[in-house]
Parts: sequence; structure tokens; C-alpha cells
Amino acid sequence: MLATHSRRTLVTTAPRRLALSTRAAPVLNALDIASENELPGVYDGQWGGSGDVLESVCPTTGEVLARVRSASPEELHTALEKSKEAYKFFRSVPAPRRGEILRQIREALAAKRDELGALVSLEMGKIRTEGVGEVQEFIDIADYVVGLSRMMNGRVVASERPGHSILEVPNPLGLVAVLSAFNFPVAVYGWNLALSLAAGNATLWKPSETTSLCSIAVTKIISSVLEKNSIPGAVASLVTGGKYVGQAIVESRDVDMVSFTGSEHVGRIVGRTVQSRFGKVLLELGGNNASIVMPDADLSLAVPAVFFGAVGTAGQRCTSSRRLYLHRAVVAEFLERLQKLYASVRPGDPLAASTLLGPLHTRAAVGIYSDAVARLRKAGAEILAGGTQYVDLASPLDGGNFVRPTIAVPKKVDVADAIWREETFAPVLCVGVFDELEEAIQWNNGVPQGLSSSLWTRDLRNVGKWIGPAGSDAGIVNVNVGTSGAEIGAAFGGNKSTGWGRESGGDAWKQYVRWSACTINFSDEAPLAQGVQFSSTA
Ligand code: NAD
Repeated sequence: MLATHSRRTLVTTAPRRLALSTRAAPVLNALDIASENELPGVYDGQWGGSGDVLESVCPTTGEVLARVRSASPEELHTALEKSKEAYKFFRSVPAPRRGEILRQIREALAAKRDELGALVSLEMGKIRTEGVGEVQEFIDIADYVVGLSRMMNGRVVASERPGHSILEVPNPLGLVAVLSAFNFPVAVYGWNLALSLAAGNATLWKPSETTSLCSIAVTKIISSVLEKNSIPGAVASLVTGGKYVGQAIVESRDVDMVSFTGSEHVGRIVGRTVQSRFGKVLLELGGNNASIVMPDADLSLAVPAVFFGAVGTAGQRCTSSRRLYLHRAVVAEFLERLQKLYASVRPGDPLAASTLLGPLHTRAAVGIYSDAVARLRKAGAEILAGGTQYVDLASPLDGGNFVRPTIAVPKKVDVADAIWREETFAPVLCVGVFDELEEAIQWNNGVPQGLSSSLWTRDLRNVGKWIGPAGSDAGIVNVNVGTSGAEIGAAFGGNKSTGWGRESGGDAWKQYVRWSACTINFSDEAPLAQGVQFSSTA
């Protein structure tokens, strides 16, 4: 299988070798990462990397922050082998002891929370408070899993046969590969790693090729805890690389479960590939999230929440608000207030405390934004705010990927139209006007994706409809809370083309184990179930 992982180029930027930016040096030094030369991007108990070079590019300035040596096909092969071996050791470590290791990981992360948060800002482009919040999410799930490690219980089931007991037993699954998206370069891995380790698995992480630095920083923190506890480092391996490294992992029969977070397009390929070898797959894919505002909504809560949902992270959360359905009675006031907030936004360095709007992650994303706005204009949509990229920013932001958050009012709501149907991973909010809640729920549900949704109302009857059988079909169904962001306590994930995956809290851990139904006969008879007789004397 690994032969299919060719040496095709993984370089993510122009081949011209730009000087490294000094911008990252203080943050990298604080995280014990050398800020010069090429960084090793593979960890399997030892650091290495001799594959193609990945450039980590700062989306705020366009500077190269670091160069990372990704995994060669041989190194991926070795990391898979070592992770499988590490699993054999780790599965026998008692679960509460695994929880104790996660507690230490939690402490180590907390000690570097601000530095790691700053690195997320630098490399991904989200504002500092969100970068730190993302690390906090990893800390929170580690906390959660410390307790969970003592509660990953099976069940005893009543047997119909005398002298028999049935146990449902969770055992570790094996090797879990985590393929993650660029927009949560720390938290998504955290959700998976915490559950996977508590369940007794080894984990192999392939981060987005554009956020290798974050993955190296996180792996350094985790590996130091593993080493201190004499646990093989390959329990939490890292292989940086692009599409072809991802493909080779997904195809590998050494990988028992693939937990994939990313676009619907790639998720469909990953899902099919893993299914074709009867592997286990967990998919967390794109969102196309709607907020619905009723006439009785408290607009002083709803307007800022929609603003954060659509503009926060520059529209680059899977849960970002992309569709806004306003009751006819509130349209004028809501849009007037929302436009004022949009007019107040200034782009800035995500590391500066006052910045609310950071850049898009890549140049390519600016193109996707521009194409989406052009499509809206062509379809006759009214552009109430934004609609263009920033071209006149002062240095060094002039090298960044800054776009104006956009509010568009298409001529009509047609969920069969790409304008409404497709996720544009940029700050573009489409507005539609409705008269009846049922109509808005139909629009909410009419798109392929089913991740997050939000209803703004004070009327209990609306709430009942919204969360009931004829309500929102999304995985996240909020009331008077925006679409964007979630706590770790509940299982997180979306339905339909978002992939049906669940990660983080709730019952999500149950996917990271192998379940066995064990019927035990402690009697002196051997009856068959359902009263079946299988004897020639019967
Ligand atoms: P992407 O699909 O381009 O890449 C995701 C990962 O897949 C990366 O690590 C990439 O290197 C890898 N990859 C690419 N091609 C591959 C292939 N053929 N086989 C195996 N791996 C491959 O996604 P992205 O642009 O990094 O992230 C943005 C997308 O992720 C958005 O659609 C967003 O909604 C989604 N997302 C979803 C969630 C969720 O929980 N539902 C969370 C975060 C992001």
C-alpha cells in the first residue's frame, strides 16, 4: 500500500527560498523549537524527517515562518510499524494509569498555553484569544478524560439462558490515525488524542500541511510527558506531509481507525477508501450553518452572536454562520445593527489584543472568497457589506490574506442553488427573509451539510419545534446561542454530508474501542439461544 505514496512534491509555496521571518522566533523559542534551519517533522519516539520540505507561511504577512522536513514514504512506514508496536505495550497499561498520563499532558499544555496559542495565531491566522481558547479546549478534554479513564465501562446484559451471563466489553482498538484540518491545528488533535489514549490506543497524527509548526510544538509537549513516564513515544506519533502522506495512511491496513477532519470533498474520498478495506472511519466534514431569528428574539444578544459567528476566525470555523434567516418583522432593525458592527471591523495582526479580524489562511482562500462574491453578484445579490479584499494595508499586513467580511442578500432563498448549498470557507454571510418558522426550518435542513444551527426566540413553542422531530436536522441545535463554537462536554459533530462523526465528549469515546459481546456459561448445561435444539435424539 505504501508504495502508492510517491515522492511527488509536497511543497506548499513557491519554490523561491525566502529568508525566514524573525516574527516567529520568540514564540518558537518559548516552545523549545529552534527557529532556524529545517525542522524535523516526524516523531515516532525519535525525531526525523527526510521527505519534501513544507514551508510554514504566516497568513498575516506572507513571510515564511519555518521549513519543515516531512515524512518520506520509508519514514511513514517506520512510524506505522513503531506505532503498532507501541500499541501492544500501551493497551496493557491500566486505563486509570493512562488517565494519569493525560493529566500530566494537561499540566504540560497548561504551562505553555499562551505560547502555543500565539503559535496558532501566527501560523493559522486566528486572533490570539481564539488561539489560546483552542489550546484551552485541549486542556479541557484532557481534564475530562482523566475522569473518563475510570468510567469507560462495559455492561452486564441479562441472558435468556440459565447459568449464563452476557458482557459487553470495550477493549482498545489499535492504531488510530488522526488527519486534521488547518483551521483547528491543535484542538481537533486534542479531542482525538485524549479519547484515543484513554481507550488504550496508539495514535498517528497527520496534520494539515500548512500547520506543521503547531503539530511539532504539540508533539514536543506530549512526547516529553511520555518519555518521563517511560511510555514509547510512538504511542503519539507525528507524520507531517501533504495529500500523498494522507492517502498512504488512509490506505494502510495497519490503521484500524481513521479520524478525518476536513472538507466534504476529501472526506468523501477518505470515507470510501477506508470503507473499501473495511476499516473504521470517523468523519468531521464541512458545515453550512444557519441562524434563524424570530420576531420575539432578543436582538441585543442575537446580533453580536451572528456577528461573531460570521466574522470570528474570519469565517474559517466549521461552525461559522454562513446563512442568516430573518423573520420579516425583524429584518430592517437586525440588518441595520449588524451592518454597524461590520463597519466597525478593522483587519489587524491576530497577535494584537485589539484585533477582531485576522487573515484568511492561504492565498488560495482569498480566491475562493472572491469567486463566491462574484457568483453572488452575478446572481443579482445585494452586497450590504464587504465584497472585496483589502489591497491598501500598511506593511507588513500588505503581504497578508485579508478580506472584508461580507453580507449578501440573494434575490431569493433557493437551497438547491450553490449559493446556499455549498460551504464557502470565508466570511460570507447570505441573508434570507421568512414569514413562518416552518419555512425557515425547511431552508435550514435543505442543504447537504448538517453541522450547526441556531434559533433565536423567547417562545417555548418555537423551541419545542426546533429541537424536536420536525426541527433542525443538524448535529448541533442551539437556542439563543450562535452556531459557532462548542464546549467539550457534549459529543461534537454533524449529520448528513458533515459525515455523522462525533468527537470530544458525550458517548464519543465509544468509537475508539473495539466492542465485544461475551456470553459466559457458568452452568453444567449448554443450551442454545432461542430454544433451538440441535441433537439427533431430539
Ligand atoms: P482539507 O480537506 O483540504 O484537508 C484536511 C486534511 O486532509 C489535511 O490534513 C490534508 O493534508 C489531508 N488530505 C488532503 N487530501 C487528502 C487525501 N486525498 N487523502 C487523505 N488526506 C488528504 O480541509 P482543510 O482545508 O484543511 O480544512 C477546512 C475544512 O475542514 C472545511 O470544510 C471545514 O468545515 C472542515 N472542518 C470540519 C470540522 C468538523 O468538526 N466538522 C472541523 C474543522 C474543519
